[in-house]
Amino acid sequence: MAINIEALRIRLEDERQRLSSELAQLSLLQSYGEGIRSEDGGHGTHMAEDSSETYEKEQRLSLERNLRAILGDVERALHRVETGAFGRCESCRQPIGEERLDALPYASFCFSCTERHTRHRPA
Ligand SMILES: [Zn+2]
Repeated sequence: MAINIEALRIRLEDERQRLSSELAQLSLLQSYGEGIRSEDGGHGTHMAEDSSETYEKEQRLSLERNLRAILGDVERALHRVETGAFGRCESCRQPIGEERLDALPYASFCFSCTERHTRHRPA
């Protein structure tokens, strides 16, 4: 197999580092925001800002969910590197393919399994 696992492992570790620091920043932002809100004491002087604050919080939560999901994929991929299972689809055990791994080093499934899962997932 022509896949350079070592190069992909380095990319995965960089990605894990990047995701972890983004998540750390997000949780810092979150506690900062909550500190401000509790100091405010809910006097209702910021009615106009409340809805945008809620919106921002939702954005942050969905960003955090995404980052955590990708981080989970990255960690599973790194685990597969260690166990020698890297590059194989978690569903059908077929090689994921060099091109796909190059584009998405933490891909857990081959292209056709991903297609199948996406189609079957309820909207
Ligand atoms: Zn597959």
